[in-house]
Amino acid sequence: MLQEIDWHARAKAVALPNRPFIDGQYVDSLSGETFACIYPGNGRLLTDVASCNAADVDVAVRSARRAFESGVWSRMAPADRRRILLRFSELILANREELALLETLNVGKPIANAYNGDVVSAAACIAWYAEAIDKVYGEVAATAHDMTTLVMREPLGIVAAVVPWNYPMSMAAWKLGPALATGNSVILKPAEQSPFTALKFGELAIEAGMPPGVLNVVPGLGHIAGKALGLHMDVDCVGFTGSTEVGKYFMQYSGQSNIKRIGLELGGKSPQVVLADCDDLDAAAAGIAAGIFANTGQVCNAGSRLIVDEKIHDQLLEKIAAQARVFAPGDPLDTATRMGSMVSEEQMDRVLGYIDAGRADGARPVLGGGRVKTETGGFYIEPTIFEGVRNDMKIAQEEIFGPVLSAIPVKGFDEAMAVANDTVYGLAGAVWTGSVKNAHRAAKSLRAGVVWVNCFDRGSLAVPFGGFKQSGFGRDKSLHAMDKYTDLKAVWFAH
Ligand code: NAD
Repeated sequence: MLQEIDWHARAKAVALPNRPFIDGQYVDSLSGETFACIYPGNGRLLTDVASCNAADVDVAVRSARRAFESGVWSRMAPADRRRILLRFSELILANREELALLETLNVGKPIANAYNGDVVSAAACIAWYAEAIDKVYGEVAATAHDMTTLVMREPLGIVAAVVPWNYPMSMAAWKLGPALATGNSVILKPAEQSPFTALKFGELAIEAGMPPGVLNVVPGLGHIAGKALGLHMDVDCVGFTGSTEVGKYFMQYSGQSNIKRIGLELGGKSPQVVLADCDDLDAAAAGIAAGIFANTGQVCNAGSRLIVDEKIHDQLLEKIAAQARVFAPGDPLDTATRMGSMVSEEQMDRVLGYIDAGRADGARPVLGGGRVKTETGGFYIEPTIFEGVRNDMKIAQEEIFGPVLSAIPVKGFDEAMAVANDTVYGLAGAVWTGSVKNAHRAAKSLRAGVVWVNCFDRGSLAVPFGGFKQSGFGRDKSLHAMDKYTDLKAVWFAH
């Protein structure tokens, strides 16, 4: 149980995987290069991890291709693939303690979140797609009487899953579940900040009975290993989650190489719209605080812009500030901590830079606004709320990816919607209102892939997740995600 474990003692003893996992085993990298993995909770070195280069990526691709063409996985009976993926999911849960610890050490998130949230949701995702495998049917098209025409789905081949560091296990599982279930071989490239759990997944997949080469894991730097995957002529698809900037690179890589399929889950600047007719400001305040301070605000759909009717502005801000106190930064390995450290010194400095920019542009911090717990050597920022923000300020337009809320006062419904949609992003948005009519009007007006009404950040594997506009295209989760990793084949039988 979470509370019964001495996490600090376990942290000293846990083995840290640090070599590529290819063809069913850990191997030495060809590059011979490494990168440092730092525990952001205290700024100290954990270990050096192999930094894969283009030659390493090529070894992983060749292994994945061998596995795919042999048919050991791609042509395995769906019910058998299902059994192996279910076992994989069970093994993730069986290794919950270790995986949660590895995640917290890599990214500084509270151990309670990693243990109760990340591990469990990754396992659930793999199981959901395992269960779907033998329940998805093809089609028989309505063609001429002397024809029978089937529309079938086939795996693409080699899928590269390039993922970020904010929810390393879940983001990997959102790709692995549908890509593996549909029979592809996958090469997983974790972010350089968070390679441990991805490597462990490679090991657990083999233990579950997945044939070698079906899941290879290449730790490495984005502009080296990630780029090599993007440009590789034998990678058929990239499932990418990360920043919009790097998403644009992947579109270029595709055009410069083999027109590989690309799915992009990118950044966001999600609006939290609170209308004057909101009839539960306490619920709104709780949802808004959790929506920006959970996971230290390092969340793609973080509700980072509070667009609030001026009539309720002061009252709401007070309530949000009260809720924010729950998220005082604490030791990530303490089970009571609700907000841990930022992922890295670089990310902390980036967020502090945005806080400076907010002040310089004339916005006023009503809560927080600085680095804390410096004596630990770790990278902690306190929950921060700016008031007096205009939507053209940098802190209202750019993705900060930190615990910083920008409050923008507006007058009435139409202005609220106009400001909410005045962004290059379109990942998610929320509206808080007591009016059924305004709830429906807002749900239709907000240009985003996900809209929450009187709630925030609710999710289910049964529901697709992804963005409009520069937040990307393609969807993770739900049966729709399987479309990204398959091609349609039409087969005509003349009678
Ligand atoms: P990032 O774009 O810097 O990195 C993501 C991945 O891309 C990492 O594995 C990285 O190594 C790799 N990469 C970096 N540069 C590359 C390059 N030049 N070529 C190829 N690969 C490269 O993002 P991050 O900092 O790890 O994560 C934060 C971003 O992810 C935020 O923008 C956030 O909104 C986004 N995100 C989106 C979702 C979603 O579902 N929409 C979910 C989580 C995070």
